[in-house]
Order: sequence, then C-alpha cells, then structure tokens
Amino acid sequence: MSKVLYEKDIQKGVLQNKKVAVVGYGSQGHAHALNLRESGYDVVVGLRTGKSQRKAEEDGFDVVSVSEAVQEADVVMILLPDEHQTAVYHESIKPNLQPGNAIAFAHGFNVHFNQIVPPSDVDVFLVAPKGPGHLVRRTYEEGAGVPALYGVYQDVTGNAKQLALAYAQGIGAARAGVLETSFQEETETDLFGEQAVLCGGLTSLVKAGFETLTEAGYQPEVAYFECLHEVKLIVDLMYEGGLENVRYSISDTAQWGDFVSGPRVINDETKERMKEILAEVQSGEFAKGWILENQANRPQFNAINARESKHPIEQVGKELRELMPFVKQPLQTKQTKQK
Ligand code: NAD
Ligand code: MG
Ligand code: MG
Ligand code: MG
Ligand code: MG
Ligand code: MG
Repeated sequence: MSKVLYEKDIQKGVLQNKKVAVVGYGSQGHAHALNLRESGYDVVVGLRTGKSQRKAEEDGFDVVSVSEAVQEADVVMILLPDEHQTAVYHESIKPNLQPGNAIAFAHGFNVHFNQIVPPSDVDVFLVAPKGPGHLVRRTYEEGAGVPALYGVYQDVTGNAKQLALAYAQGIGAARAGVLETSFQEETETDLFGEQAVLCGGLTSLVKAGFETLTEAGYQPEVAYFECLHEVKLIVDLMYEGGLENVRYSISDTAQWGDFVSGPRVINDETKERMKEILAEVQSGEFAKGWILENQANRPQFNAINARESKHPIEQVGKELRELMPFVKQPLQTKQTKQK
C-alpha cells in the first residue's frame, strides 16, 4: 500500500522562512492563501485588478501584481484557471523567477502537457487537493482538511519534496492524508475522475434519471428529490463508510435493487466508454481539444453551458431549494464567477 503521510510525518521548517506567493484568488487561491496564513506562513497574493483583488484585500492580504508577487516570493503557487496559466506564466511569472525559487501547481495539466516548460533552475512541485477549494477552506476552519496529492517534477535545491509536504501541511491537507504522485499520474487521474465519475458521470446519471421519470409523466418535483437532492445524503454515507455503509443504511429492498439494477445502468459498455475517455486523456487528445477550444474563445463550451442551464432540472431545483432554507445557496454561480 502507498504511504499516506499525516501531520506527524511532515517537517515544517523548510517553508518557515520563505515567502509564498499565491497567484489567483479563486476557488483554490483563497483557500490556500487563508489556510497558509493561519498556519503561520508569510503569504503575498498576486493578481490582476478586479473582483478577486478586492476580495483578497478584504481578507487582509497584501495584494500586488503577479510580477511583483513573484519577485517578492520564494515559492510561487499558480492558482489561475488552467486555461490562463500559460499566458500569465510567460508574461509575468517566468521573467521574475530567480534561481532556486520554486513554482507550484494544484493540477499538473500545463506542465504535463508541455504548455509550461519550467526553467531548469527552479524547483517544480504540485500539491493537488482532492476536493473543491471552498471545502479546502471550510474543512480547515473546522479543524479538519481535504486530502491532497503531492508530486515533484523538478528538484534543483534538494528540498522540493520537503517544500511540497510543508505546503500541503500548511493548507490543512495533512489532517486528512497526503499521498505522493507524479505530474503524469495526477493529471491523468484528475481529468479521468472529473470526466467519467465526479462531474461528467454524476451529472449525466442524475439528468438521465430525472428525464426518465419526468418523460414517464411523474412530477418534476418528485423526480428532483429522488434523482438529485438525495444524492448528497447517499454520498455522505459513502464518504463516511464506503459502499458498505450505504448498503447498511438503505433498506434491503433498495440494496437488492442496487445489486440487480445498478450493473445494468453502469455496465461493461459504460466501462468501455470510460476506457476510451482515459485513452483520450493519456494521448493528449482531450488536452489538445480543450486548449484549442480556449484559443477559439470557447464557442462550444458556451453553447453547451447555455443549453444546460435551461434544463428543467435546474428550474425545478431553484424553486425547491428556495423552500429549503437550510440548503446553502451556491457558493458562486458561473455568471458571477470572474474568469
Ligand atoms: P478559479 O477560476 O476559481 O480562480 C482563478 C483565479 O485567477 C481568480 O482569482 C481570477 O481572478 C484569477 N485570474 C484569472 N485570470 C487571471 C489573469 N489573467 N491574471 C491574474 N489573475 C487571473 O480557479 P480554480 O478553480 O481555483 O483553479 C485553480 C487551479 O487549481 C487550477 O489549476 C485547477 O485545476 C486547480 N484545482 C482546482 C480545484 C477546484 O476546486 N476548483 C480542485 C483541484 C485543483
Ligand atoms: Mg474553477
Ligand atoms: Mg480533481
Ligand atoms: Mg481537475
Ligand atoms: Mg441494507
Ligand atoms: Mg428510497
């Protein structure tokens, strides 16, 4: 079994006298900056002017341009959207790096797919939390953490691994477990996971179930509760105790249905599709498509996003959630999210 590291396994000294620039203050950026500061580290936030800048200033950070932040810092964590990293890297990060500095990522995409080719005189590592940024922050505040992967791409100082571990500890990940990976493994598994299971797989499963029920004439409200709302309750059980815990808690009728019908929905054919998706991730075909889509100003992304936002499940969901005040409002909607 791989060795999972916790608080007691990690030396903090290596990051103690260093300045960390957190570049970007979005989902991950705000969480890393706040958690690191509360863990006792010296943090500067690097941003362009705009909404994120005001938020970081309200949170009490010293906010400077990306170039200045890189000049000031020893360790530069790049938490810009993946599709903007290459441009900002060439314009503001690379020219301001000094030999012996470190650059870091929360996802290996740009380095692994050669969009960013780091200079040979800096350390390069990743610390990739296995959860959304807002939970990286919320769990830290609760005294817990989100697990993270760490990996070293380039070690010129001899300290890159210790730096990565101290950084992971600083954002709270060592409370949940820190596991070593490579840029290749992190990139490929992260892309596969979000496409086939966590994001693409799950949203498609929920939608297909909702459509099946409503097309058969059942009330959309009932279909929403059954196929979307209840997912969280089931996933919480899974998170706490695996599949076994779900099956312990559900009725035996539900468990029998799980056994006989689940494998008819997700079957060998589905797994073949998953293998195709993985192969496209591994070959760089997915990365190329996404890079070109961005260069073309996202025609397809925007068209699909507009269509998806009009799906009846979103409409009925909005109405029902307003009647359940205990269900938190979305952290940020796509419309208000600054890109
Ligand atoms: P985000 O879109 O939430 O935030 C990006 C930040 O960068 C914002 O503060 C934005 O204002 C700023 N920004 C955008 N363009 C800029 C520019 N040109 N110059 C300066 N600042 C600019 O991004 P995110 O979802 O936190 O993703 C950051 C990284 O973390 C990515 O590599 C992503 O793959 C990785 N990651 C994200 C999550 C997640 O929960 N969202 C989970 C694991 C890893
Ligand atoms: Mg994002
Ligand atoms: Mg991920
Ligand atoms: Mg991802
Ligand atoms: Mg049971
Ligand atoms: Mg039931």
